Amino acid sequence: MECLVCRKVANTDGLAFCGVAICAHCEGELMSVSADRPEYDAFVHALSRMWQERFSASRDRRLRDGDHM
Ligand SMILES: [Zn+2]
Repeated sequence: MECLVCRKVANTDGLAFCGVAICAHCEGELMSVSADRPEYDAFVHALSRMWQERFSASRDRRLRDGDHM
């Protein structure tokens, strides 16, 4: 599985949820970054972008597979 943050292959000692993963290294970074640091924004951005992509992908799939217009 690919790490969401650094795009390297994440191994199992990182976080994995809902088909995405964060490697142990980035998990440590994430936990050590506080909300008033610029790195935190980057993490939050990466996460929210990922969720938006996943959300719109599943919505589009539902629309295609759903009722015919
Ligand atoms: Zn990583």
